[in-house]
Amino acid sequence: MERKKCEECGGKIEKKIVDYLFLGESLGKFPAEVCMKCSEQVFDESVTKKIAEIAKRKGLFGLNERAKINQIGGSVGITINKKIADFLQLKKGEEVLLYPENRKRLIIQIP
Ligand SMILES: [Zn+2]
Repeated sequence: MERKKCEECGGKIEKKIVDYLFLGESLGKFPAEVCMKCSEQVFDESVTKKIAEIAKRKGLFGLNERAKINQIGGSVGITINKKIADFLQLKKGEEVLLYPENRKRLIIQIP
């Protein structure tokens, strides 16, 4: 069924070709129904499937993982799994910048 109005805000819906960004990388251009008011984008089921396949092929899928905090001397350590390390191209001995964005989020900035 075609949507005429946005479920979120009631704004007008227009069909557009949009650049799909995932983890800051473009996965390509896809047709979407876009709200002109709140910019909410809705993709067809078939398009969503295609996007997921591309993300998987590029190794961008399943990069969320739970990690436990370990005690290392007087400090604490978090292990970053290989998948995420590979994605970020982390190398042993390289320096990264750590800073809390707020009390719930830690940023690891790679130079
Ligand atoms: Zn909207």
